[in-house]
Amino acid sequence: MPYQADIAIIGAGVVGLAIASQVASEDRDVYLLEKNETFGQETSSRNSEVIHAGIYYPKDSLKARMCLEGNALLYELCQKHRISYKKIGKIIVATNNTEAEELEKLYKRGRNNGVELKMLSHREMRQLEPNMKGVAAFFSPPTGIIDSQALMRYFLGKARDNGAQIAYRTKVIGIDKISGGYKVRVEDSHGSFSVTTKVLINCAGLHSGEVARIAGIDVDEAGYKLHWCKGEYYSVSSSKSKLVNRLIYPVPMAISGGVHVCFDVSGRMRLGPLYYYVDEIDYKVDDSRWKAFSQSPIMRALPFIECSDLEPEMAGIKASLQREGENFRDFVINHECDRDLPGFINLIGIDSPGLTSSPAIAKYVGTLVNEVLKNY
Ligand SMILES: Cc1cc2nc3c(=O)[nH]c(=O)nc-3n(C[C@H](O)[C@H](O)[C@H](O)COP(=O)(O)OP(=O)(O)OC[C@H]3O[C@@H](n4cnc5c(N)ncnc54)[C@H](O)[C@@H]3O)c2cc1C
Repeated sequence: MPYQADIAIIGAGVVGLAIASQVASEDRDVYLLEKNETFGQETSSRNSEVIHAGIYYPKDSLKARMCLEGNALLYELCQKHRISYKKIGKIIVATNNTEAEELEKLYKRGRNNGVELKMLSHREMRQLEPNMKGVAAFFSPPTGIIDSQALMRYFLGKARDNGAQIAYRTKVIGIDKISGGYKVRVEDSHGSFSVTTKVLINCAGLHSGEVARIAGIDVDEAGYKLHWCKGEYYSVSSSKSKLVNRLIYPVPMAISGGVHVCFDVSGRMRLGPLYYYVDEIDYKVDDSRWKAFSQSPIMRALPFIECSDLEPEMAGIKASLQREGENFRDFVINHECDRDLPGFINLIGIDSPGLTSSPAIAKYVGTLVNEVLKNY
């Protein structure tokens, strides 16, 4: 006998967990299917843990909307549920005149998106960060950092309290459309079995393109092909980490934000991520890229950091819709009724700012789910 669900969610990263916490309720059978032995073992545990403000994204894009809403929701959740966070703010700094021109454009874009930002005078730059060097900078007060594990534990607890069932070591291997929903074929250590469900939500991160494909979608034609982009971090020696107080970012001259200063909530400092595209999932930091890392623009802004202060730390991989060199691509959050897959909701290309956006994405998907179940 297959298990019967009203809603099945594939993937227990921060996005799947946030959605489970949003849609679970006493009168619904909700299953969260996760291939790893526990939640958050992939991208959601391997990132900068920054609560972004929404500066970089085109106005009215899903990324801009979800980031701004997610930023406010995360601070609310953190305060209410004692999730560790620090609203330390972020400085974006230009180290030469070309960067200063781009900084000005970025400042206008951020303001146009509705983000509270402040252009800094040279005196203010020295007051806020005496050890930072730059020709111009602005400050983003709503940017902060969060304990991403604590956030995921909170979403998991809320989902469970509302009756959601979490199945670990359970990999989705097939999806068949059936009358009134989907038959989801899964395998665990005992073999394979099925879950039937009215609503199926794909939050499989790096593998969400593959999950869409096994549901019968032509991924290339739909524009859902994912490109894996690896970001590497280096830890900074503790003697130097006291020399800055805030997140410090360079002016992004390419699509990603570039190597920046990150802190975790305990105050540990690291630099990263240095991004490059990969074909396989391997989280080892590649020593051969050390030179590129040590020449990152952020090093010009922080001349007190020497190469001997840096140690390879960790890497994360994002599920990116944009190919190398390609321009902005937005999150895909789509109810696939137009592809004759009613009740199937895809989340594809949830790269940065996916952690920040997670509670807003959950609300958005919650509305889609309510519409599907209302018409059921
Ligand atoms: C280097 C880096 C830095 C970043 N920094 C930030 C930041 O500072 N702030 C920010 O807001 N965002 C940041 N992001 C983005 C953020 O980390 C992601 O958007 C977010 O973690 C995506 O969460 P997810 O739940 O979609 O994916 P994941 O966390 O990858 O979860 C997907 C889950 O699906 C499971 N799964 C996959 N296939 C199957 C299957 N067939 N069956 C069952 N389960 C399956 C996986 O095992 C995994 O647990 C960063 C990303 C990277 C890589």
